[in-house]
Amino acid sequence: MQCKTIKTDVLVCGGGCAGLVAAVAAARNNARTVLVERAGFAGGIITAVGLPYFDGIAEKQTGRIVVRGIPFELLVKMGRCDPNATHVKPHNPTIDSTERFKRLADETLSAHGEMLRVLFHSTACDVVRQGDRIATVRVANKDGLIEIAAQQVIDCSGDGDVAAWAGATMEKTTPLMPMTLHFRIGNVQRHPELNRRARQALIEAEKQGRLPMFYGPGLIFCFADDEAYVHAVRVAGDATDAADLSRAEMQGRADAWTMFEAWKRSVPGFENAYFITSGPYIGIRETRRLVGQYVLSEKDIVSRKSFDDAVATGCWYMDRHPNQTTIGSANLPGQGFQPKPYDIPYRSLTSGEVSNLLVAGRCHSATARAATSTRVSVTAMALGQAAGTAAAMAIGQRIDVAELDGRSVREQLLAQGAGPRTYA
Ligand SMILES: Cc1cc2nc3c(=O)[nH]c(=O)nc-3n(C[C@H](O)[C@H](O)[C@H](O)COP(=O)(O)OP(=O)(O)OC[C@H]3O[C@@H](n4cnc5c(N)ncnc54)[C@H](O)[C@@H]3O)c2cc1C
Repeated sequence: MQCKTIKTDVLVCGGGCAGLVAAVAAARNNARTVLVERAGFAGGIITAVGLPYFDGIAEKQTGRIVVRGIPFELLVKMGRCDPNATHVKPHNPTIDSTERFKRLADETLSAHGEMLRVLFHSTACDVVRQGDRIATVRVANKDGLIEIAAQQVIDCSGDGDVAAWAGATMEKTTPLMPMTLHFRIGNVQRHPELNRRARQALIEAEKQGRLPMFYGPGLIFCFADDEAYVHAVRVAGDATDAADLSRAEMQGRADAWTMFEAWKRSVPGFENAYFITSGPYIGIRETRRLVGQYVLSEKDIVSRKSFDDAVATGCWYMDRHPNQTTIGSANLPGQGFQPKPYDIPYRSLTSGEVSNLLVAGRCHSATARAATSTRVSVTAMALGQAAGTAAAMAIGQRIDVAELDGRSVREQLLAQGAGPRTYA
């Protein structure tokens, strides 16, 4: 079959938290950019899983904003923050509509006209390498199998798909953190005993063998007063294995319905409740990570090691979910080591083996424990902005991203109101 070929400066694979921002940053820095995303919309965890949190934008204890740039612009455009704010209020990093975020993502991407071409329903599925460079990325979509020949490639697939297929060294922790299907239940009558009774119903369901495991449950009323947004499903598995991912989606749905039906049967307040939606995708916390030119470690985070080539600031606590039931607030926000704002270096996005590749988002180069902090949504977006900016700079200088001096990326980000800051 003759493949259609698209030529571009920068290709971004995956349009989630990191990829949406990476594509916008590359286009803003004058690189012709193509974004491919397997879903019919951008936003990743926010829109494909339904998570409304902009965690990592501000220090948890003080609310001091530590990430600016495009992630901050998006939060402002969602009406959750004043453009001149230095701090956010405790619940402000939560957006009130993941559907409206889909629209904001569309508008933000479309604003770049010809410079930024978006291909939804397009899955990166193979890589052709020449020497130490990616020559083309193969993408499957309604045009069939197409080839995208890009000067610089940014892997924002969350799973490091492109990096792995390009032969970059990757790491996968055993066991991987569990996946979680998020779901929403409408017409719930709130009362002080609701959470305790809901938890009790899940303990019973697990005892009776109807539920393999769960956590919390977190019943969160952030979208409407009578709508429970539920964090409770835990499914072990490897989302880079197609059969295992399919099993996990089915198990997640089965568990969500077991929970809903148990609550409806036995918990006052759920009598007239109805199941609104789940997903559309199960949430994947952890799969492959790049072993890049620098591997950010928990020691770097705890000691707040400063890097000349820092391109982003992290600040979230180390949040590792186990593959077992945890009841109540264990492993819910507030648990784990809480770092002060720390540097993330450019070299944690670059590969020593593939010179025109950057990896941003939860699959960047970090140890398993460090990644439990860097994986949150806004930190992933900040890494995306660094990657998009760097890829465009490499195009301007006619070099590959691995040859670029990370200190110049930092300077460019700072000049554009983004990048890392120094905090006491
Ligand atoms: C269940 C769960 C709960 C979480 N809770 C929180 C929380 O409370 N607060 C918080 O801040 N963070 C939370 N996180 C973590 C965090 O938000 C994610 O790790 C974050 O989404 C990382 O951004 P990313 O861009 O790397 O991945 P994603 O946002 O997942 O984006 C990856 C994108 O790539 C696309 N894609 C994948 N493969 C391909 C391919 N081959 N070709 C084309 N497109 C592809 C996907 O469709 C997706 O859009 C949670 C994560 C999970 C799973």
